[in-house]
Amino acid sequence: MSKSYNNTISLREDPEVVSKKIRTMPTDTNRVRRTDPGDPEKCPVWQFHQVYSNDGIKAWVREGCTTAGIGCIECKQPVIEAVLKELAPIQERARAFTEDPGAVRAIISDGCEHARELARETMRDVREAMGLSYG
Ligand code: SF4
Repeated sequence: MSKSYNNTISLREDPEVVSKKIRTMPTDTNRVRRTDPGDPEKCPVWQFHQVYSNDGIKAWVREGCTTAGIGCIECKQPVIEAVLKELAPIQERARAFTEDPGAVRAIISDGCEHARELARETMRDVREAMGLSYG
């Protein structure tokens, strides 16, 4: 996947855009018409099924694809639902931060202070180890 090829799905992508990207994904090139049988092994959508679908759905895809019993849009639907389901809690968490930039600034500021404190301690240890303690 590469952003320059516009074939990525970002974590905060709008669900409509995610659905569209998956709906328009390339499939097995032998399935030119709905009635042409395909081979999941030659289809990138199958890779998604490997990750997101249970055995029942995978068997349905294998059977439906190789017999032209299902269409590609139909086949992609469980993938769309699974990806959206996975993204939903991530997007919900992200939304809370986007709506409250003050909280984000506070988190960053706390992090910076913590890092400064750790750096101070580390430098103190280094000086002591090198016999450069000033007092
Ligand atoms: S039915 Fe599914 S696995 Fe088969 S070519 Fe279409 S999208 Fe790919």
